[in-house]
Amino acid sequence: MELEGDLANGGAIQLKKTVLCDVCGASTAETGHGVLQAQWRDGECEGLRLCKACFGYAMATLRREHEARHLFDEGEQ
Ligand SMILES: [Zn+2]
Repeated sequence: MELEGDLANGGAIQLKKTVLCDVCGASTAETGHGVLQAQWRDGECEGLRLCKACFGYAMATLRREHEARHLFDEGEQ
């Protein structure tokens, strides 16, 4: 089930092992997990696999940062 779904989503094969959140260690077996990933041009790869709560926290934090910068930019113009 998991394997077929992942293949349909672009070929990344994930075996049916439980993914644990890299931040809080929670199991993401039931909810699925989010990935924050970078592949830099110097060849370095880094990433975090996040549970729904931690991913939501990361997204909210980044959106707040975006809004703060956006407001700051408008203030300078
Ligand atoms: Zn987490």
